[in-house]
Amino acid sequence: MAYVVTESCIKCKYMDCVEVCPVDCFYAGENMLVIHPDECIDCGVCEPECPAEAIVPDSDAKADAWIDQNRELAALWPNITRKGTPPEDADAWKDRPGKAASLSREPGTP
Ligand code: SF4
Ligand code: SF4
Repeated sequence: MAYVVTESCIKCKYMDCVEVCPVDCFYAGENMLVIHPDECIDCGVCEPECPAEAIVPDSDAKADAWIDQNRELAALWPNITRKGTPPEDADAWKDRPGKAASLSREPGTP
């Protein structure tokens, strides 16, 4: 079991989640974060911290399309342990549907 970051995180990246994770298992892309499934201890602390409601357990149907992406991208992106500055337009993107096509696979700055 692990928690999974889903589409709602794209272009939001508020990063409240990384401050609470006890095992520092978040990884940063250019416009999204992901969770390394082998490092996540399934504590659930991050889920209510995310203002975009982007984090779900892998048993949730919303996770299905994102489980493989979290594993794959966590191996490519740098670890992030401290909250940075969210994008200026994060609020405008927060609740927009259909953001999957906007996902950047480029690594972010932790
Ligand atoms: S708090 Fe939510 S939207 Fe922000 S970076 Fe974490 S998972 Fe993404
Ligand atoms: S469930 Fe716990 S261990 Fe997993 S990413 Fe969230 S805070 Fe970290």
